[in-house]
Amino acid sequence: MLATGGIGWNADLRARLFPPQIAPVSQTPAGNTGDGIAVAEGIGAAVDDGGDSPALWMPCSMLRRPDGSTAIWPHILLDRAKPGLIAVGRDGRRFVNESDSYHDFAMGMIRAGLSEAWLIVDAAFLRRYGLGLMLPGGRGLRRLLKAGYLDRAPDPGTLAARIGVDAAGLAASVAAANRFAAEGVDRDFGRGTSAMNRFNGDGTVAGNPCLGPIGTAPFYALRVVPIDLAGAAGLRITPEALVRDRAGAPIPGLYACGNDAASIFRGTYPGPGTTIGPAMVFGWRIGRHAAGQPLP
Ligand SMILES: Cc1cc2nc3c(=O)[nH]c(=O)nc-3n(C[C@H](O)[C@H](O)[C@H](O)COP(=O)(O)OP(=O)(O)OC[C@H]3O[C@@H](n4cnc5c(N)ncnc54)[C@H](O)[C@@H]3O)c2cc1C
Repeated sequence: MLATGGIGWNADLRARLFPPQIAPVSQTPAGNTGDGIAVAEGIGAAVDDGGDSPALWMPCSMLRRPDGSTAIWPHILLDRAKPGLIAVGRDGRRFVNESDSYHDFAMGMIRAGLSEAWLIVDAAFLRRYGLGLMLPGGRGLRRLLKAGYLDRAPDPGTLAARIGVDAAGLAASVAAANRFAAEGVDRDFGRGTSAMNRFNGDGTVAGNPCLGPIGTAPFYALRVVPIDLAGAAGLRITPEALVRDRAGAPIPGLYACGNDAASIFRGTYPGPGTTIGPAMVFGWRIGRHAAGQPLP
């Protein structure tokens, strides 16, 4: 039974399956080097490309620590969805509903061909919600600015120049975000229209809990990149979790589960538990099948 954690850090599988703009960094444990998929392929197993996406992604910011190591912060829901934050590409334009799930946010980057994006907030946002490793309240801000984790400027134009983003594009995006916040309607990406958006927003804000103004100087930018948290591509399996060969036939006695198996959700993210749920279910099914027990 193969359960070595999927594609992970396997450079060959990443090059074959992942979009070109994905950095060679994974959130999976460093020991997950794709061994299960690689050995199965070596005896003729079929690898499924995952469908909609070869992996589930999170937008992550990165801090270089003084010892040279890198801290990766996944922007799961604490800041991205809150009112008063926008995400822009190098053209200064928004590309996605920032309050959607981390996977859908990162898919927005991938579909727009972006390898990086910037979360833009003002001083009021930073104080209230924090941003990534910057906790609410502002403690530790000087250290993070000095480490180059965050950028700060007195106005959006200067901030754009500092991070290499188009200033006119960013000015237009901030102006539009402020108009949308006043109206309570995101006319570009429908932010705050789904139950999940509103849950991730700030319920204490009247009107749209995902929209707020960006106007209190200074302004801050934080760079994020899409990083895989789990493979969706993996070994093609039968309902009993037997690995299929390239002709589609089950390979007797060889099972796969967890991220070594292709995701039953076909590269989409319906919600929390998308990977651990099927891993538990198929682990159970494998146990019963291997023991000759009937499967529901
Ligand atoms: C920040 C973050 C949040 C997440 N939140 C959720 C969530 O809320 N819900 C959810 O469902 N999923 C979540 N996930 C994803 C989930 O944690 C993983 O997809 C899941 O743990 C993968 O399980 P697995 O058994 O396939 O692999 P793993 O749990 O990674 O286990 C693989 C094991 O195989 C070992 N191994 C590797 N190679 C070998 C070898 N050659 N020989 C022997 N052993 C080997 C590894 O050391 C490891 O112990 C999250 C992931 C991240 C990064």
